[in-house]
Amino acid sequence: MNLNRTPILGIPIDMITKEDAFAVFEGLMERPGFDMIVTPNSEIVVNATEDAQLAALIEKAGLIIPDGIGLVYASKILGHDLSERITGIDFLTEILGYLERTGKSVYLLGSKPDVEGRGSVAELAANAMRERFPGLIVAGTHHGYFGQDDEAAIVEEINASRADFLCVALGSPKQEKFMDKYRDAFTSTRCGIGVGGSLDVWAGTVQRAPEFYQKHGLEWLYRFIKQPSRLPRMMKLPVFMLKVIAQKNRRNK
Ligand code: UDP
Repeated sequence: MNLNRTPILGIPIDMITKEDAFAVFEGLMERPGFDMIVTPNSEIVVNATEDAQLAALIEKAGLIIPDGIGLVYASKILGHDLSERITGIDFLTEILGYLERTGKSVYLLGSKPDVEGRGSVAELAANAMRERFPGLIVAGTHHGYFGQDDEAAIVEEINASRADFLCVALGSPKQEKFMDKYRDAFTSTRCGIGVGGSLDVWAGTVQRAPEFYQKHGLEWLYRFIKQPSRLPRMMKLPVFMLKVIAQKNRRNK
């Protein structure tokens, strides 16, 4: 499969359709060793231009899916043919369907340890996932508030669970750096994805933007309205667009 890997601000992005991305994912599940799926949006691309470790691990990823409307605009400005964004949360849903169909298991790592005494976000997300995909095997869960000293035990727990797939919700770049650090230590896990706040959405502790916002690529606006404290993070979007225009102008000279 041709990934059509193309740099935006020097950070590689796979300019592929959702369907092709899924075929690549299925290939990763069959191949030995641990592969990472990364889902960069404009903010992550800007961060990667300032964080060599993040840039290097994106480059190594088995699949780099464009998660964000900013990347679609950027690809148009730069003359590439990225027609659609693939949101991490939708891709995760497709992955869960695949895991159910193939009898493979998932481990959920990350998000808050307790939701009003009802269990962790990861446990509540696991219940909701099983409701949607009754045959899905959730091999284990662990919350995302742990120190470095606990990491080895968590990796051991993931290995003991024999999970085929790992879903990490620690926020970016923490989730990607965690997977990269332990990629050689995972014994049965073939593939992992960083999903940011997706477990919160599955657990029902955070509402996903209504369809109107999703359809028009305005999820960022909805999240801002709900959580104005995200403003400094969101300012990366105009920074990203200005840098992309500068990249195009440099190329045209
Ligand atoms: N989180 C975590 N451990 C940490 C920091 C964050 O488990 O040390 C979780 C947090 O509870 C949330 C997710 O990571 O569920 C990150 O959410 P955010 O909204 O930052 O992600 P985004 O979707 O914007 O990338």
